[in-house]
Amino acid sequence: MSVVDLELVSKYVDIGDEARQLLGKSEQEHYANLSLKWEGGLIQADTYVVFHCAVRGPAKGGIRMSDRVSMEETRRLAELMTYKCALAKIPFGGGKSGICISPKNLPMEARRALIREYVHIFEPFLRSGAYIPAPDLGTTPSDMATIYGRTHMPESVTGKPPRIGGLPGREEATGYGVATSVRMAAADILGKTPADLTVAVQGFGNVGRWTAKFLHDWGAKVVAISDIGKAVYMEEGLPIAEMIAAKTLAETSLPEITHDELLLLPVDALVPAAVENVITDSVADNTGAKLIVEAANDPTTHEGDCILQARGIPAIPDILANAGGVIASYIEWRQAKSGSLTERSETYAAIEKQITSAYREMIGVVSRENVSHRLASHILSVNEVVESMRDRSWI
Ligand code: NAD
Repeated sequence: MSVVDLELVSKYVDIGDEARQLLGKSEQEHYANLSLKWEGGLIQADTYVVFHCAVRGPAKGGIRMSDRVSMEETRRLAELMTYKCALAKIPFGGGKSGICISPKNLPMEARRALIREYVHIFEPFLRSGAYIPAPDLGTTPSDMATIYGRTHMPESVTGKPPRIGGLPGREEATGYGVATSVRMAAADILGKTPADLTVAVQGFGNVGRWTAKFLHDWGAKVVAISDIGKAVYMEEGLPIAEMIAAKTLAETSLPEITHDELLLLPVDALVPAAVENVITDSVADNTGAKLIVEAANDPTTHEGDCILQARGIPAIPDILANAGGVIASYIEWRQAKSGSLTERSETYAAIEKQITSAYREMIGVVSRENVSHRLASHILSVNEVVESMRDRSWI
C-alpha cells in the first residue's frame, strides 16, 4: 500500500493519469545478497535499494540496517522521501536502502566490510550521483565515512562525521526540526509556548534524544521517554541534561512506567521517535495526548490515523516534522559540491526556515480545504512533484 493516497489527493490536485501511473510505482528497485566470508563462515544480508521518484533531483534517503528490513518497507520509505523533499522544497528525489541484518552482534570489522561490499555493488549509483545515502536506523556517521573512504567523493554521501566533510549540526538536525515542529504546532493548535508544554517522547536514539534536549532547553517539561528496553516518567519533568550522557535508559535509575503507558499519557504533545506503526487503533483510541508530532517515519497506522482524526487529535506528519535531517543533508551536499564551509548556526537557520515555511503552507491548506494536516501535506507535496514532472516534460 502506498504512503500517499493519490486517489484522495487527486480531489484537490490536478494529477492526471500519467503522473498517477509514475508515482504509483518505484522508478527503480534493486536487490543484492551482500555476502562476506567471515571467520570460517559466511555473513549474508538481503539488501534493497529503491528510487521512488527522481524527477526533482537525485534520489536521497538513508541506509537502514535492521533484521526487519524488507523490500516493501524500503519502498514505502523511499516514497516518503519523495514527498518529504518536495514539501521542504529540497531539490532531491526519494530513495532508500535497507540492509537486512541486525547490527547488534555484528563485529565492527565485519560491519565495515559489509558496508564496503554495499559500495562495491551499488557504486555506479553513488559515483554518478544518482543516489545519495545517509544514516538511518542502525547506521551511523562512521558508516558514512566508510562509504566516503571508497568513493573519495564528499558529495556521494551525507551524514559524514564533521571532520571529514560532514556538516556541523547534522547530528542534531532531525531533532531540531522535530522540536521546531512541536513548538509551532503547540503555539498554533494549543495556543501554548514551550514553557507551558508537557511532552512524551518514544525513542532515545538520535532523533528522540535531540528532540527532548531542544524542547527541554526551550523550557518544555519532557515528562516521559522510552527506548527499546525501558520507559521512564517524572511528572515534574525528566532531568534531560543528565540523561543525554547515557547511551541507553538502562543506565539511568529514574522512575519507570510501561512502554504502553507512555503512549497513553495525558500530555500536550506525544512524539513517536522510534519505529513505524506504533500509533495503532488502540493507542489512538486511548491516548491522552492533545497533539502527535511524528518524528519517526510512518509511526501511525492507517486505522490509528482515522481514529485520531475522528477524535480531533492533530498529527503533524513525518514528512514535515522529521524533514530537518534531509534539509541538513542538502546543505552538506551543497557544501561538498562547492567546497565552502558551513557554521552550525546556518544549519539551524536553514532547518527553521524550510520547516516553518512548509508548516505555514500546510496550515493554509488545512484551513482552506478543511482537511487533516497529513492530507494537507500530501496535497502540497504531490502538487510540487507533479509540477516538476511538467517542468521536465515527463507528462
Ligand atoms: P536510532 O537507532 O538512533 O534510535 C531509535 C531509538 O528507538 C532507540 O533509542 C531505540 O532503543 C528506540 N526504540 C526502538 N524500538 C522501540 C520501541 N518499541 N519502544 C521504544 N523505543 C524503541 O534511530 P533514529 O535515527 O533516532 O531514528 C528514529 C526514527 O526517526 C526512525 O523512524 C527513522 O527512520 C526516523 N528518522 C531519522 C532521521 C535521522 O536523521 N536519524 C531522519 C528522519 C527520520
